[in-house]
Amino acid sequence: ALTQRLSSVVKTLRGHARLTEENIQEALREVRLALLDADAGLPVVKEFVARVKEKALGQEVVGSLTPGQALVGVVNAELVNLMGGVGEGLNLAQQPPAIVLLAGLQGAGKTTSAGKLARLLTKTTKKKVLLVSTDVYRPAAIDQLATLAKTLEVDLFPSDPSQKPVSIAANALDWAKKHYYDVLIVDTAGRLAIDEAMMAEVKAIHAALNPVETLFVVDAMQGQDAVNVAKAFSEALPLTGVVLTKLDGDSRGGAALSVRHVTGKPIKFVGVSEKLDGLEAFHPDRMASRILGMGDILSLVEDARSRVDEKEAQKLADKFKKGKDFDLEDFKAQLQQMKKMGGVASMMDKLPAQLTQMASASPDLGEKALRRTEGIINAMTPQERRKPEILKASRKRRIAAGAGVPVQEVNQLLNKFEQMQKMMKMMRTGGLAKMMRNMKG
Ligand code: GDP
Ligand code: MG
Repeated sequence: ALTQRLSSVVKTLRGHARLTEENIQEALREVRLALLDADAGLPVVKEFVARVKEKALGQEVVGSLTPGQALVGVVNAELVNLMGGVGEGLNLAQQPPAIVLLAGLQGAGKTTSAGKLARLLTKTTKKKVLLVSTDVYRPAAIDQLATLAKTLEVDLFPSDPSQKPVSIAANALDWAKKHYYDVLIVDTAGRLAIDEAMMAEVKAIHAALNPVETLFVVDAMQGQDAVNVAKAFSEALPLTGVVLTKLDGDSRGGAALSVRHVTGKPIKFVGVSEKLDGLEAFHPDRMASRILGMGDILSLVEDARSRVDEKEAQKLADKFKKGKDFDLEDFKAQLQQMKKMGGVASMMDKLPAQLTQMASASPDLGEKALRRTEGIINAMTPQERRKPEILKASRKRRIAAGAGVPVQEVNQLLNKFEQMQKMMKMMRTGGLAKMMRNMKG
């Protein structure tokens, strides 16, 4: 339905040379409905649409874009912008132990996320992590964290349920200091609804610990209800970030918009499965695609832009002529070119035989797959991109965690890259720029 809405935005504006107050009105209505459909709250939608309007008005419609496509482009860019641009990770740069406090309603996914975070930190950054539960109201909650800790082989501070949550937290901190833990992750109790007692308790824990990260954990499936909850928590606690859980459900992700808007804090992680490896770094661009209908509309926009950037092609070609090795940086540039050309399917028939071969050797080139591939390359350091041979297991794990993909996907990418590298070596003399010009067809 979303995609249809936005398609009709594109249609509505067909035949107009530029975006004006009059012709944009109906299209903006569709954008507004689309976002409400995705479960974003009304206040954020209103503000968002106003901003899109401001940005879009008077915008010259460039090249082969229709005004509708230009508007959808603005919508996408603003969505990404609103959700915080580049994803941010945890800030643990401080005198250890760095304390991470998790707060949120019952069932939001705090305990699960505590385990997932412990896993990320021990597996990818080799931190020495201590877990503690302050949920003394439900014995099962302490057991749940204990089970997770055991599975993960991460240390757990034993909570005495007869003690006050604040004392447990303070004792755990003492223990963490004495035993040189890098990180202390503190799980807290939640209620089914916000109440004063719960807020007072988590505030007291916060005051006792002074955590470097205070993460608000919220269930994406909660949709618009998330707004009020987020508001209450951000008023009670100086939050540093958000964990948006259960994105593997059929939530459209509108909660991401609302929560970001209300708290003003970045979404740092998303939960994508019940399993312990189901926590990923947040990618605003992916979330924007999800809200807009999984990239369908975006590809519509990309199609219209499907022209090879002549300069980029020439730069690549020059590199090959000089005999420089094809590295992951070039690979990424290559993928971006392909994306501009509207994906592989649409260019297959225009390609010379060698390039067809190359294209089938490269990773799946659907819109989504391209983004994931780019995400993986983005998660590498410049050095790693230039010298992929230094990518051993621990680096791969770090990259996978950074890109929010399983390690296998990093390996697959590297295999494909190797094949492509070979192909490129063969083609070095083949006049790549000329081929690319031909492809524009
Ligand atoms: P808490 O009350 O905030 O500690 O929430 P829990 O961590 O106990 O999680 C509540 C339920 O949600 C459990 O059944 C979890 O397995 C499930 N859960 C948590 N995070 C996710 C997620 O990202 N995806 C899915 N599918 N389930 C999740
Ligand atoms: Mg819990």
